Amino acid sequence: MALKLAFLLIGGCGGCDMSVVDLSEKLVDALEHLEIVFWAPTVADVKYKDLEAMPDQSVDLGLIAGMVRNKENEHLVKVMRQKCKIIVAFGACASLGGIPGMANMHKKEELFENAYIKSPSTDNPDNVIPQPVSKEGEFELTLPEFLDSVKPVDAIIDVDYYVGGCPPHHDHVARIVEAVVTGNLPPKGSWLTNGKAVCDVCPRNPALKGETREYVSEVKRMHEGMPDEEKCLLNQGYLCLGPITQGDCGASCPKVNIRCAGCGGPIPPTWDFGLRAIGAIGAILADESVVDNLLNKYPVLAKILYRYALPKALIRK
Ligand code: SF4
Ligand code: SF4
Ligand code: SF4
Repeated sequence: MALKLAFLLIGGCGGCDMSVVDLSEKLVDALEHLEIVFWAPTVADVKYKDLEAMPDQSVDLGLIAGMVRNKENEHLVKVMRQKCKIIVAFGACASLGGIPGMANMHKKEELFENAYIKSPSTDNPDNVIPQPVSKEGEFELTLPEFLDSVKPVDAIIDVDYYVGGCPPHHDHVARIVEAVVTGNLPPKGSWLTNGKAVCDVCPRNPALKGETREYVSEVKRMHEGMPDEEKCLLNQGYLCLGPITQGDCGASCPKVNIRCAGCGGPIPPTWDFGLRAIGAIGAILADESVVDNLLNKYPVLAKILYRYALPKALIRK
């Protein structure tokens, strides 16, 4: 019997949905085992009330992509939990808060002011800020209430499994579907991962080539110079987070000469990505003078340490 699947995107960009579509022919094979009963709002012409009308626990697998940013997101993840036997937080936003989670460095009022008043492309002479309820003539208009902070899905509901990636690599998606279809799943609460770091699968890894890792005497940002395409990026001073990031993407970024920014999520069991990152970076700096160099290059260090994971950090704002 086919496995019933529901896919919900909440506060995200649709890239995670694309990673499923990117399965191409493999998706056709997977559809032999899957019956997609809900995929919104991106792919299927279904309404949220269709999901609400489904019997409780009637869906075998629910994938949730995106983070919780407003009351509507919050409501929908609760409905998914009610309807689905297994819930997977799918991708960096759902598992960790993702890039939108960096908004937690600012208050809600600052975000609104920047988006609706200060941004150069905004034409808003009356400084109107969207309200949850507003009147337009005889009509009352409503918008979902904006929450104080970005939250990962497990801040609202119980999550069975986590998947990293922004978005998850399509090869990895195929492995996840297979694991769920065959029931070959790790204990509840685990990441669905191959258990390797990005460095483990990176062709530049000095250890795999019998070379030693060098201490960094100068930190560089990605736009500075052209990195040597063979050498480890970290050895060249580019702050590649491959040592502490789950490598289910197959080291996609280092393979195209870009440092790993950590979208795969922290290697389990760590949840606070930034703490691991600062430890890893600190361990490879040649001496204290490079710390000043690091802080000059990255004045807001949290932006590289927590690019995908601030809402899941011990200190979340
Ligand atoms: S994890 Fe990345 S691709 Fe997925 S919804 Fe968030 S921003 Fe988009
Ligand atoms: S630090 Fe980056 S470039 Fe170096 S081996 Fe690890 S993933 Fe590859
Ligand atoms: S190399 Fe790092 S940032 Fe790039 S896709 Fe893989 S986990 Fe994400």
